[in-house]
Amino acid sequence: MDKFFNGIQKTNQKPTADPEDPTAPEKKAIPKGVVLGKDGKPCRSCTSFSSWAAMTRKDTTPAATTDPPAPPTSPPSPPPDCPPDVDALGRSTWTFLHALSAAYPPAATAAQQAEMRQFLALFARLYPCWPCAEDFRAWMGRGGNAPRVEGREGLGRWMCEAHNEVNRKLGKREFECARWEERWRTGGGMGGVVE
Ligand SMILES: Cc1cc2nc3c(=O)[nH]c(=O)nc-3n(C[C@H](O)[C@H](O)[C@H](O)COP(=O)(O)OP(=O)(O)OC[C@H]3O[C@@H](n4cnc5c(N)ncnc54)[C@H](O)[C@@H]3O)c2cc1C
Repeated sequence: MDKFFNGIQKTNQKPTADPEDPTAPEKKAIPKGVVLGKDGKPCRSCTSFSSWAAMTRKDTTPAATTDPPAPPTSPPSPPPDCPPDVDALGRSTWTFLHALSAAYPPAATAAQQAEMRQFLALFARLYPCWPCAEDFRAWMGRGGNAPRVEGREGLGRWMCEAHNEVNRKLGKREFECARWEERWRTGGGMGGVVE
């Protein structure tokens, strides 16, 4: 899914015009970084807010002037009531997934293990950022990456490794998985409450 991380769109999909949609691809060229959904329209939860804002921004190119250039502005940040972009959705989802691992029993019953396996399989199909989901499914399917659902420690470590896989792809620092529980369950050195 390099195309996603390089900000290159799928080219085998034909976006359709929607007269009500200000982001309709025919109205304006789709900037780099905007990912199309399966319906051929820009996918908000697959795209960063800055790319989305660049696409929806009105053309405000000023007429030629002798005034000095305006100072650079900081990158746009979404208003609080904005639908989630790929980053906001990701942060909230990782919070949920790590909290889910933290709440998992130390030794799960066969039924609990089956439920967790089902949940993760469905999650990897239904996650609203489709290229993220596609990559996540591919990673889960590779040898040695099947969810470890026997108990909390294994699941917590597995979730950390899954998250690190995405961190690596995005060029972010890897998290030290020995500290997953401190970060997501007990607190302590990372600003939380020690049990
Ligand atoms: C399944 C999934 C797939 C994704 N795929 C993509 C993708 O393909 N492309 C894309 O642009 N975005 C993707 N995202 C979103 C991406 O992972 C981030 O959530 C987003 O970029 C925001 O990053 P962030 O730096 O705010 O912190 P996040 O990566 O969201 O992390 C939140 C917090 O979790 C903690 N943390 C970080 N790493 C770990 C770890 N390994 N284990 C435990 N705790 C950790 C840190 O305290 C961090 O502040 C995906 C999200 C999910 C849930």
